[in-house]
Amino acid sequence: MIELISTNVGDTGYTSPAFVCDTCREQAFADGMALVLWMERSVDGLTERSPMFVVHKRTCGQAATHSLGGPYPRVDDWHDMTMELSVFIEHLATNAERPVKGRKRPHSLVLRSPAGGAHAV
Ligand SMILES: [Zn+2]
Repeated sequence: MIELISTNVGDTGYTSPAFVCDTCREQAFADGMALVLWMERSVDGLTERSPMFVVHKRTCGQAATHSLGGPYPRVDDWHDMTMELSVFIEHLATNAERPVKGRKRPHSLVLRSPAGGAHAV
């Protein structure tokens, strides 16, 4: 996830946003070793997605995928989706400056929390 990290440099302290691995809680970098991970399924033509998680590749990603199988069971057609963190940042930076091309109509997506709650976005 994106978190504010507090630092102390000399006599100056500040907070700065950074990507933190949702499995090991260490900072993740766009160095080819981190992913954005989410669960997704289609029900009656409607896309449902979990929140997005940031994980290091391999061990952290495998642990996150395994634990997300609880609230998002594969037997209920949930499947894991990933995007390289560097690619995610490129898209985010682009989409922060202009509308997303080919965007589906509003409210065509259901965000489903791990606790089971859902709301249309
Ligand atoms: Zn990690």
